[in-house]
Amino acid sequence: MAKLHNLGLPRIGEKRQLKKALESYWKGKSDAEQLLQCAASVQQQNFARSSALDFLQVGDFSFYDQVLDCSFMLGNVPERVLEQNYDPLDVYFRAARGRSPADSCGCGVSAGEMTKWFDTNYHYIVPEFTGDTQFSLNPEVLIEQVQQAKACGKAIKPVVIGPVTYLWLGKAKDGSDKLKLLKDLLPVYAELFEVLDKEGVQWIQIDEPALVTELEPQWQQAYLTAYRYLAARKVKLLLTTYFGELKDNLALVASLPVDGVHIDAIRAKKEVDALKALLDPGQVLSVGLVDGRNIWKTDLNQALDFIEPIAKELGERLWLAPSCSLLHVPVDLAFETALDEQIKDWLAFAVQKLEELEVIAVALKQGREAVAKVLAQNAQSLQNRRTCRRVTDDRVAEAQASIKAASFERKSRFEQRAKLQRDRLNLPLYPTTTIGSFPQTPHIRKARRQFKTGELNQAQYVEQMQAEIADCIARQERLGLDVLVHGEAERNDMVEYFGEQLQGFVFTQNGWVQSYGSRCVKPPVIYGDVSRPKPMTVEWTRYAQSLSAKPVKGMLTGPVTILNWSFVRDDQPRAKTCEQLALAVREEVLDLERAGIEIIQIDEAALREGLPLRKSQWQDYLDWAVGCFKLCANGVLDSTQIHTHMCYSQFNDIIEAIAKMDADVITIETSRSDMALLSVFERFNYPNEIGPGVYDIHSPNIPSVESIVQLISMAAKYIPKQRLWINPDCGLKTRNWDEVTPALSNMLKATEQLRQQA
Ligand code: GLN
Ligand code: ZN
Repeated sequence: MAKLHNLGLPRIGEKRQLKKALESYWKGKSDAEQLLQCAASVQQQNFARSSALDFLQVGDFSFYDQVLDCSFMLGNVPERVLEQNYDPLDVYFRAARGRSPADSCGCGVSAGEMTKWFDTNYHYIVPEFTGDTQFSLNPEVLIEQVQQAKACGKAIKPVVIGPVTYLWLGKAKDGSDKLKLLKDLLPVYAELFEVLDKEGVQWIQIDEPALVTELEPQWQQAYLTAYRYLAARKVKLLLTTYFGELKDNLALVASLPVDGVHIDAIRAKKEVDALKALLDPGQVLSVGLVDGRNIWKTDLNQALDFIEPIAKELGERLWLAPSCSLLHVPVDLAFETALDEQIKDWLAFAVQKLEELEVIAVALKQGREAVAKVLAQNAQSLQNRRTCRRVTDDRVAEAQASIKAASFERKSRFEQRAKLQRDRLNLPLYPTTTIGSFPQTPHIRKARRQFKTGELNQAQYVEQMQAEIADCIARQERLGLDVLVHGEAERNDMVEYFGEQLQGFVFTQNGWVQSYGSRCVKPPVIYGDVSRPKPMTVEWTRYAQSLSAKPVKGMLTGPVTILNWSFVRDDQPRAKTCEQLALAVREEVLDLERAGIEIIQIDEAALREGLPLRKSQWQDYLDWAVGCFKLCANGVLDSTQIHTHMCYSQFNDIIEAIAKMDADVITIETSRSDMALLSVFERFNYPNEIGPGVYDIHSPNIPSVESIVQLISMAAKYIPKQRLWINPDCGLKTRNWDEVTPALSNMLKATEQLRQQA
């Protein structure tokens, strides 16, 4: 009968225990012993949660990041973090975050670079290579997990990142060809397999998600080289692919000498048959039937319709699993005690997803009758969801149907608008501004907390927030900024703040998902048609504007960013949900305009994050994402100035799409690359105004006047100075005033110098 397994569980703990234990250890408030105890209990819980599976998974636990663990296991640790008399755990934290409790203040090293794990919101530490990188096996951490799991008396399946994906994820610091390292890497994997074999391990899950991306021929060849080399081994390998279709790598995957292959049957459902046909009669096919990337219940009957014939054909050779590791969903729905009961009934978190698999397995083994009741309940939940009147809103459908081509476009071209805006706003050369948020002081957080718990009533809360806004405006006036902001004191989070005021969203209490290290996010859930019952930001903005003769920017989060940072309904295309968000934000934009706000910024911090894994699919995404931005922004009068902000630096490859957004002004992060990324403007003539961030807000360092003058002078080589704005590279909410005031003051001094030189 089909075997059940999992590809990984969240390790942060259902109440974020590991996060708390880590942060306390880093601060020196608890010792390694306490941290290890927390880790052991999370792992034990995960073993307990896996009791119905045929394997216990190990290797999915990590103190920080599984890719960094892999680097340590392979002996690829940057020189700079090694400190002879340190505990191995502290060396590891140095590599992860630049310092460990053993480092006295200020003597850390630079942390490993972090980047997004495929198209998820999880960030891994990028392996570092040079032409001379050597590998050596350090399996102790993994072996210890294996030994702990053995106590449960079950078959154990360790997961390791495959050699080709490991190289693919890393970066050659010296520009050398990292593929050349493969031949030295493979013997270490072979040695690892031997060690695991001695531990009694029969199956190893070897993750090769790079196989769902567009691979150059030499990378495809690397797969053949690697797995042929590793063919002589005692352990069995389950090669796992996930997050997408294999496309032209499918035949390659089927030809590799491994003992089984896992395919993501949510995102690559239509490839399951083709892969099945190509596998040898000796190979296992693992089908990822339950969505590991979203929080909706599986349609169990539909899953059974799909898998029953495959099970008949394959028998023992079929394995079942979630589509990918469950790291990307929250742990357990049972902890959601305050969630709307009706909507809760439509959801499944990691624990529930494993239960779904169990039901499918029983149905395959004993027939659907054996689980008739569960199947009926599941069908009922799905039926409720499909027909629930809270999901569909006719007014939203009507609004979508009546969108016209003209709704996407400004009334006039940029040149004409710019002239009107110049006359209206009367800004100096090099206008100065900020990205929106100002320090979220303990005082502000306390007020928001007290309002939530009812300690402050509405009137008291408004009064406190207005005082914060007034303080923020006064400080900006003293500094001498040209375009002010209200400071975002009322916002806990740039997506949650809007989601909470929109129809179609719910929020969880413990729906945390690891973003990196100890950092977690709690994405809102978009369950239904989105609409805006009433204005969301107008009163705060109007109040701020009433305090100053200078223009105050309205500050909104854009539709694409709200979408990309939420769990999105799966019953309609994402583009359609995004369009609903765009219509809601559009209403807000128009209300701000009616309230006399002359400049409106719509942040699209996460636009780039939504890019599909395959470049061939980028255009389609960019078309609708840019369309949604235009829909929300472009209903305004020519004299209203639209700003947008994006906080990533690599946009060379999507600059054409960004230009199509047609925002009057765009502010971007550039300071960390010393404006290097502006070189894209040599090949591409960006038509509108631009504010390349002049200092890095992620660092507590105060930028010098000279450094800012220098950066702007560099920027002026690429962009005519009449179109340049001066601003930090992102919002200031994570900084404190002692950092912000001198930093902005230097920014304004630098601007003064530049204006004099002009
Ligand atoms: N307006 C937001 C802020 O200043 C933008 C945040 C972001 O880009 N991530 O905080
Ligand atoms: Zn930003």
